[in-house]
Amino acid sequence: MAFGAFIVPKKEELPRDWDIIVIGGGPGGLTAAIYLARYGFRVLVIEKETPGGKVNINPIIENYPGFKEITGEELAKIFHEHAVHAGAKLLFPEEVVKLELKGDWKKVYTASGKEFSARALIIATGSVDKTLGVPGEIEFYGKGVSYCAVCDGPLYKGKKVVVVGGGDTAAISTIYLSRIVREIVLVHRRDKMRAEKALADRVLSLPNVTFKWSSVVTEILGDNKVKAVKVKNLKTGEEEVIDTDAVFIFIGVKPQSDLAKAAGVEVDDNGFIKVDYWQRTNCYGVYAVGDVTGEPMQIAKAVGDGVKAATDINDRLFGGAYGDYPGKWHVEPCPTSD
Ligand SMILES: Cc1cc2nc3c(=O)[nH]c(=O)nc-3n(C[C@H](O)[C@H](O)[C@H](O)COP(=O)(O)OP(=O)(O)OC[C@H]3O[C@@H](n4cnc5c(N)ncnc54)[C@H](O)[C@@H]3O)c2cc1C
Repeated sequence: MAFGAFIVPKKEELPRDWDIIVIGGGPGGLTAAIYLARYGFRVLVIEKETPGGKVNINPIIENYPGFKEITGEELAKIFHEHAVHAGAKLLFPEEVVKLELKGDWKKVYTASGKEFSARALIIATGSVDKTLGVPGEIEFYGKGVSYCAVCDGPLYKGKKVVVVGGGDTAAISTIYLSRIVREIVLVHRRDKMRAEKALADRVLSLPNVTFKWSSVVTEILGDNKVKAVKVKNLKTGEEEVIDTDAVFIFIGVKPQSDLAKAAGVEVDDNGFIKVDYWQRTNCYGVYAVGDVTGEPMQIAKAVGDGVKAATDINDRLFGGAYGDYPGKWHVEPCPTSD
């Protein structure tokens, strides 16, 4: 059965017990899986959607070493194939819905009722896009409201669109959209771009982009599809209606850490999982990597996190380099484990 760009693995009976389970098959999780499988461990990656994670929706990637320019879909496919080649098992689409971090064996429960356990866990669940929460946003989702330039940009070839946001994702997406659409109005709550300078400069130089600084979208209007947005200037209080064929929203992310938090893993005020240098959480044997641990939310960072977690699991947790490691890292059990 086809699933996205991939083939769903044949239904096979997977063992219940593993050395390591990785939750989330994005670049962070798949990198850890590649390293761990090559160390000789039995590794299961559980992915609720498509292997490759958010990379699948990256329009074009120009900053991941080894690839001067590659589409997200292509890179995601390479990550997936590499993990399989290394010997990791991938289970998808399958959502992890509950964790139990008590004792030496960590338990993992999935939406379809499966139960797995492992001696170590890596949480690589990434983050999801934040929504504006304005009238019309839910109603017109898929009818002009989008959170993904590469998915929906081509639908608006030669048309006018509004982009909301001023960070890296808004900038990258605006650059991509500017090659497809006729005109872009970028609405940002601050008075300048928050994106890294190189990206911001490129956006500011685009001939078909105009800017509404210090402004927010207060409503999305239309009939059976988006027709316009209401924009309010935060300095003057003035509102105007801007005609548009689509609204692309890039206003930040929410880390997918609720599952881990419910099992006793510590998160910071913004919900990002707290980790030490080796990506260890406060729970013994439980690691977190990639976007779910915070900035910079980039593929190379997620990949690097995956390497560190895998190295520590091999060298210290399982004694690969240091033998019977005396356990200098949190010897106490996870807070919710009793
Ligand atoms: C439009 C856009 C453009 C970007 N462009 C670039 C770029 O050019 N260069 C760059 O370096 N970065 C770019 N990024 C950022 C990059 O995609 C992320 O930093 C990277 O994918 C993070 O990897 P990750 O492994 O931490 O998480 P993700 O890639 O988000 O993967 C997490 C995975 O976990 C899965 N998951 C979540 N919860 C569960 C659960 N309960 N059970 C099972 N699975 C679960 C998700 O389905 C997902 O597949 C871009 C992002 C966007 C949105």
